Amino acid sequence: MFIRSFALAFILFASPAAQAWNAAGHRLSAVIAWQGMSPASRSFVSQALREHPDHARWLEKSGDGDAMLVFAEATTWPDSIRRDTRFDGATATLPGFPDMDRHSDWHYADFDHRGKRGRGQIDRQIAELAKILRSTAEISEIAWAIPWLAHLVADIHQPLHVGYSEDRGGNEVLVENPFAARQPFVKLHTYWDDLPGPSGLRGKRLRLRAEALLAGQARPVQGNVARWLQESRQLLPAAYPATRGSVTLLIDEAWRDQARAIADRRIAEAGQRLGKLLEDIQRHRVSRETRPAPASISPAR
Ligand SMILES: [Zn+2]
Repeated sequence: MFIRSFALAFILFASPAAQAWNAAGHRLSAVIAWQGMSPASRSFVSQALREHPDHARWLEKSGDGDAMLVFAEATTWPDSIRRDTRFDGATATLPGFPDMDRHSDWHYADFDHRGKRGRGQIDRQIAELAKILRSTAEISEIAWAIPWLAHLVADIHQPLHVGYSEDRGGNEVLVENPFAARQPFVKLHTYWDDLPGPSGLRGKRLRLRAEALLAGQARPVQGNVARWLQESRQLLPAAYPATRGSVTLLIDEAWRDQARAIADRRIAEAGQRLGKLLEDIQRHRVSRETRPAPASISPAR
């Protein structure tokens, strides 16, 4: 019993807090977003991404260099910089970057059980990034902001990314998973992050899974970032297993199926909303560029 308790405590406190849908979740949202975008918006996004310092790596990871798959890789970038030594503090700021910070508090926002806001910036940063993308003329800044915006729109659809401060969005809740022989105890937050599928999901399997997710879902109301956050918070009661096992909360088959269905729906919603948001941003930019200059006011004679 002592060894078991020790093992549980180790999982809870020695491993770093997980803070994102895994890479499969982000790539799926990106592929779904792409389906809803016009050729003009797709080209706006892919041209900007070409200016990003990590474009070559995305191109390589995407396999065949397809613009949609490059975009899918780019949306995992805000997580990949967690392990990137350029963000350790000694590297000069890259072109278009506001700083060389990992911004780990952008991925979430916590609220206590009474609803009082705690740590995290996710909703504020989504609004800010959309504002930057509508207004900046700097292609390198657009290249920096698109991966961030796409990433955070997906994250805010994961209920535990706007979870309770008391358990740090499910990072301090251990659940028992009888369906995973190799990892029978897992942090609740990690369990949710991994629901989209294996993190190496790419290429044809990625396209097929995105198609299947989209086929099963109705088109969501677009709403705004406040609505997306509220929807995720309303899902929080369902995000915790209702059954108690001998040591901790226990995942049973019914809850597992329900959690999978919620994750599938939220990824499809995130993708469709992201597509529309990028479409709106691109249209706004075009209408701003083509708007006639204000007529000069000449004094009346
Ligand atoms: Zn994230």
